[in-house]
Amino acid sequence: MRPVERGPVPLEADGSNKVFTSYGNARRDLIDRMGQYCAYCNQKLPSSLAVEHVQPKSLNPTLELEWSNFLLGCTNCNSTKGAQPVNLPDYLWPDVHNTHMAFSYTPDGKIDVNPALSDALKVKAQKMLDLVGLQNYPDNATASDRRWLNRKEAFVKANLALLLYQSASAKGAAEECEKLLGFWACDNGFFSIWMQVFNAYPTVKRQIVLSFKGTADTCFDTDVNPLQRTAEL
Ligand SMILES: [Zn+2]
Repeated sequence: MRPVERGPVPLEADGSNKVFTSYGNARRDLIDRMGQYCAYCNQKLPSSLAVEHVQPKSLNPTLELEWSNFLLGCTNCNSTKGAQPVNLPDYLWPDVHNTHMAFSYTPDGKIDVNPALSDALKVKAQKMLDLVGLQNYPDNATASDRRWLNRKEAFVKANLALLLYQSASAKGAAEECEKLLGFWACDNGFFSIWMQVFNAYPTVKRQIVLSFKGTADTCFDTDVNPLQRTAEL
């Protein structure tokens, strides 16, 4: 799960903090900051991304128009999360923690908690997966939840890109390929899958981090290995 930087409240033309009269009005600002990705499943969606309330607005009306309570969510993550009460410290969050370290992905589209986490963090990571239903793997023709199938497809694309990159490298053309790979990855979404597939290639990972708008770059060291973002993760 990509760690993101929401940044401070956007400003009006006169330099004052923007006041949102409707949460939907924050959509463009959120996309400008973090790209057109669901904050949880990391799918890229050119439309239908909604302004998601980290703490549900129905239970926390004072946070309905609060910038720090906004992320972008797809229909599946948003509707699964719904109006469940959310106690922030019980979960790992993409705008708070280095969630890139929290989960592991497999080429069959499945996602799990990173086994290297401490027991306490495993509980929080699992709660995040459950909150938005990232371990739902419906396998029927009419299923609307295609997040896991899209992850599986992302693996195929990223592995194909890896083969092309290795072949280009063997011909001395690695550098030309790297920027293109960054663009290709961000055009496909699923940040952590691309980072996992290109794990052995820091120069490519750097392009991926740079290309996905709003990735929290403080979550990576100069060799693009993940760093803890908070005392927890
Ligand atoms: Zn989603």
